[in-house]
Order: sequence, then C-alpha cells, then structure tokens
Amino acid sequence: AASSSTQDLIISVDIGTTSTRAIAFNKLAEVVSTVQVEYDQIYPHPGWHEQKMTDLIGTVWSCLDGVAEKLEGMNYKLDQVKGVGITNQRETACVWSKTKGEGICNAIAWPDTRNTDTIRKLAEQSEKGLDALKKTTGLPLSTYFSGPKLRWMLDNVPEVKDAHDSGDLFFGTVDSWVLWNMTGGLDGGVHLTDCTNASRTMFMDLETLDWSQDCLDFFKVDKACLPKIVSNAEVFGKVSQGKFKGFPIAGLIGDQQAALVGNKCIETGSAKNTYGTGAFMLFNTGHEIVPSTHGLLTTVGYRSSPQSKPVYALEGSIAVAGSSVKWLRDSMGLIGDSSEVGRLAAEVEDAGGLFFVPAFSGLFAPYWDDQASGCIIGITGYTTKHHLARATLEATCFTTKAILDAMAKDSKTTLSVLRVDGGMTNSDICMQLQSDILGISVERPQMRESTALGSAICAGVALGLWGWSMEDPASLSRVNTAEATIFKPLNDQEDREIRYEGWNRAVDRSRGWKN
Ligand code: ADP
Repeated sequence: AASSSTQDLIISVDIGTTSTRAIAFNKLAEVVSTVQVEYDQIYPHPGWHEQKMTDLIGTVWSCLDGVAEKLEGMNYKLDQVKGVGITNQRETACVWSKTKGEGICNAIAWPDTRNTDTIRKLAEQSEKGLDALKKTTGLPLSTYFSGPKLRWMLDNVPEVKDAHDSGDLFFGTVDSWVLWNMTGGLDGGVHLTDCTNASRTMFMDLETLDWSQDCLDFFKVDKACLPKIVSNAEVFGKVSQGKFKGFPIAGLIGDQQAALVGNKCIETGSAKNTYGTGAFMLFNTGHEIVPSTHGLLTTVGYRSSPQSKPVYALEGSIAVAGSSVKWLRDSMGLIGDSSEVGRLAAEVEDAGGLFFVPAFSGLFAPYWDDQASGCIIGITGYTTKHHLARATLEATCFTTKAILDAMAKDSKTTLSVLRVDGGMTNSDICMQLQSDILGISVERPQMRESTALGSAICAGVALGLWGWSMEDPASLSRVNTAEATIFKPLNDQEDREIRYEGWNRAVDRSRGWKN
C-alpha cells in the first residue's frame, strides 16, 4: 500500500467522456488519492452530443483542488507533487475566441454524428472517396474525427465562421483547451496539442507530425487557428492558479494512447484494449507507419520527447461498448446498476442465439458504416433479459475479435495476450467471454487506471523522475506490478467459429439500414 508520506508524486488529470478525474500516483503507480467529478452531457437532437466548454476546464480545477485537499488531509505536503500530466477524450472539437478567451459554441463530443452530410460531400470531392486523406493521415473520412467536426461548425455556426475568417478563432481538442486555460488562458496560455490528439484531426501528416497544407486545403481550414503540435513528454508550461500554481505540466496525451503507455505496451507488437464508454484497441507497431487495408486506423502511439522518433500504432475504435450497458440501465431499465449485467448474463449458459449490434452511432472499426443502425436479432419466445444481457457483453467482445483479426492481417503478426482495462473489465464474465471469443489469454491488471497512469508516465519521463523511460521496458518494471488476473479460453475452436459467424450475419443485417 501507499505508505510513505515522504514520497514524490505525480498528478494525472484525465478529462474523460463523462467525468474528469485527478489521480495522484507514486513511483510504483499506486493510487495515493483520487477525485472524480462528473459533468453534463448535452443531447440536443438524435445523433448530437455536446459538452459545455466551461465544464471541461471547470471540472479540472475542482478535481485539482479536491485532490490537493485530500493529500493535505493525508499529511502529504503539496511540494511532494513533482508535476502534472494531462490526458483526455480525443476527437472532441473545441472552438474559442483568441481575444475573449471563451468558447464560441459547445464542444462537439467525439461520438456526435451530426456531420454525416459533411462527410458525404467531402468524399465526393475526391476520386478516392472516403480514403481521400488516408495516405497522409492514416484515417478514413468519418464523422468521428475532430477536423470534420470543425468543418461542420464552420458551415453551420456563423460565429465560428466569422471568428475563423477574421483570425480570432482558436481550434483544438480537449487537451488544447484545457492546457491553454491551465497555463493562464488570455494571460499567457499556450496553444498546443500533442501529436496523438493531432493525429485524430485529419489535418496532420503522420510522417512529419506537422499540419498538412493539403489536408487543410481539403477542409478549407486556416492554419492560423490551429495549435502547435508537440511531443507527449516535455514541460509545456506551469499551472496558473489554485493549489498547484507554478507546478510544471509535463505530460499531454490522448486517453487511448495514454492507456497504451499505462499498460506498458511500449514494445513493438504489444496491444491493449480499453473498455470504457467506447472500446479502443491499440497495437504498437514501433517506428513503422503501418497502413491498414482492413478497416483500422493508423495513428501516433506516443513520442517520448521532442527529439525522439514517434512510435506508431494501429487502432480499432468501437463507438459503443460500456455505453450499451448504460443503455440497458438508463433507457431500457433492465438493470439498476452496470454491474448487474454480468449477474444476469451468468444465469444462462449462452445468449440463446440472440445477437445485439449496438450501432447507436453507426459502426466504427473495422466496419465504418455511418448508415448502420442498432439491431437485436435472433429473438424467439425463449429469449429472456438474461440472453439480452449476455448478448450485450458479447457484442463488444465480437467487435474486438473483428478488430484483432484485422490487426493480424495488417501487421502480419498475431497476438498471444491482450491487456485490458476500463469499466467493462470489472465484469469477470465479460472478460471470460472475451477470452473465449478471441481464443487467446486476456490479462487484467489489478490497478486499472491505465489511462491516468499513462499521462503520469509521460510527465515522469519529461521530469526525469524515477528513471522512467518510454524506450526501455525494464525502466518500468516496478510500475503497477500487483498480480494480474488472467482469463484463458474455456471453449473450442468450433464453438468460437459458429458464434462468430452468427455475429457477422447480425452485423450484415444492421448495415446500411438508414439508407
Ligand atoms: P469512460 O472513461 O469512457 O467514461 P469507464 O472506463 O469509466 O468509461 O467505464 C464506464 C463504462 O463501463 C460505463 O459505460 C459502464 O456501463 C461500464 N461498466 C462499469 N462497470 C461495469 C460492469 N461491472 N460490467 C459491465 N459494464 C460496466
């Protein structure tokens, strides 16, 4: 346990999709103190999902104050905190005024699909269609990325267009907005974004890690509104107010890449899957940019200093994972608490032929179909809520299987162990189903705040703490070593194939439904 009250600490600030957290870690990655503040999600129309710009930064300040108070209450001195790392939900588009310092409209959150028409029109601009910018950015044109969200704002929110045209616009993802505010806002705030968040805009060239003029021309976006792209581990500035005023901010990294680092997947060929609101599987491909021909994204994994070569990753993004469980709870009223889904699912031997494709905002990897709709198929008089609970957990596991298969094809290597974290991994049965469906081991660490840990590692590396390095796995050998739970497949290949075939048929039924 975290005992020594003389030890050095790093604070990680994690601005997630539904809440912000501040976690104080020691050098073993033990959680010394944690504070979480939820904030409102705004759904003005079907398919729209917004967040208040003031909430995104306001919750950061309250979490930092909260964690400071807790630490002091535990007899820590705040100067034991050596620095702060930031990690964030990616692809959420923020716009604010350079001169007023305020958000111009609500942030458009990453699952928002209002820009479907924008994507259709952009795809028509190129003979390559959805692959118009794939070679440069590693990404297909999709509603998901922050650049197409900015394009929607420019087309539909006159105040944003005016600010853009008059040079008063700052654009950025949540990392940029939070860092700009934390370092002083109008009073000296730095307008930066890290290379992982930048790699999700559709504006960045994966080779140069700089903005691509071709991409900006394609979206008709002026470079003057964009932040400067930086590495994940360097001193970006100092906290401008509150209990940690003057403390260095030294880590900045998108949440899924943070979880890659936090799971210590810093060797080429290692991979992790994070099962939160959505699920995101990242596979470290080392310094090589591996293009995907099977529906994955090519993205920056991390860059451990301004001088270091970037490490790249293949990513499979699933829009709906834990949020399907939340849907059973909040919209269907089938369960009272997320953890009940596992208890229901455990009462039956299998899903009884039921498949649930939770394509609430279309399908992301590896299918990429914004016309797909959610569907539940295979219903008979025998079907109960237990089968539906099981099918809900299986849906994320099957999509993960589709992504793992795509990764094997793209990278020409196979995985033997998958490291996991995120809310859904609290469910043992879900993890057993995952292992059965994949046919490989699933390794779940005890301390599963991997995302927060990843940004703390970035900050620790930048500040030269504890000998940590993102290039040397041995340097992290004492980090988060409490015994992990390993789930091994309990079924056979034939069972695996039959179930997966059923899933693929269900996905076919859900596709193109909105056309
Ligand atoms: P995020 O960081 O995206 O907000 P979390 O990693 O905190 O997400 O995970 C929250 C999600 O995990 C919720 O959607 C919730 O429904 C799901 N979840 C939490 N506990 C369980 C559980 N025991 N079984 C299944 N799902 C769970």
